[in-house]
Amino acid sequence: MSESDSPGLNTMQSSVLDVLAKPAGWEPLPDEVLERVRSGFLEGLKALEPLLREDDPVYVSKHKISSVLSCEKQFVNSQGSFQWTTANSKGQVAHKAIELLINWRGSFTPMDLAESAIDRLSDASAGPGSIGEFLAAMSPAEFAELKAQVVDFVTKFIECFPPIKREWQPVVESATSFNYLGRALVLSGKTDLMLGQPGSKVIIDFKTGNISPVHRDDLRFYSLIELLRSNRPPRLVASYSLSAARPDPEPVNESTLRVASMRAIDGITRILELTRRERKADVTPGVQCRWCHLAQDCEVGQAWLNRSDDDFDA
Ligand code: SF4
Repeated sequence: MSESDSPGLNTMQSSVLDVLAKPAGWEPLPDEVLERVRSGFLEGLKALEPLLREDDPVYVSKHKISSVLSCEKQFVNSQGSFQWTTANSKGQVAHKAIELLINWRGSFTPMDLAESAIDRLSDASAGPGSIGEFLAAMSPAEFAELKAQVVDFVTKFIECFPPIKREWQPVVESATSFNYLGRALVLSGKTDLMLGQPGSKVIIDFKTGNISPVHRDDLRFYSLIELLRSNRPPRLVASYSLSAARPDPEPVNESTLRVASMRAIDGITRILELTRRERKADVTPGVQCRWCHLAQDCEVGQAWLNRSDDDFDA
């Protein structure tokens, strides 16, 4: 990936290319650094082995880690209550549309891609709780609403992102995982877009809204999984806000991997303790109270939501 690869780009596309380009003289992290991070993480997992059972596996994703670190009570309450909606299916459908765009032969419009993505993911026989079943059962109004949102996503992607070349080895919605003690513990993720060769990959997550600090934590978690499963972490991770046309890149180094490792161990420890009912969930107020289903009956959450402006001045 370099600027000379794609002349005639607009400013937004050029800035993406600048960010993604491999710096001259870039070298992968030394093996001893990778081994230090890897062995530190595995030591943390070793201490959790009494809570791991092969016949009752625990699955850990970036969402679960963020959720349990935000408020344990909300995390516990949210387990098993997920339902597909047009709002939360938008990302998966949009990523499917990007996958089609990258591999499409011939001309297309964003509308073609959005319709094809919804069609290909719709599957009435996919089973209860699946996105396929939800999409297949959408009303005409829900279909129109979802399609409009995906068209917006795809249009912005085409506008902001340089045309993706075959030699960049693009992979969309790539599932990745690391299993521990057989499959007693499974760390998993799905990257929106991965570019480049093993050992110097770039992982990109697309955001329809603004970028927040937790997005960096999510991408660091992906880097950690890549290190654990292949011993070759990515070279760079980046969130890309399509609404703001702004990338938030972070080169992967020993510090980012160590932070990811410590945060993951903290999150996994809490998930296991709560899943195995070793202790009661703590309550931690914050922005998550705004969309928490428990907020109405949660004293701590109510106090946070109703805090006066004076509280900010203290
Ligand atoms: S309202 Fe806030 S503090 Fe209370 S459970 Fe929900 S997220 Fe936690």
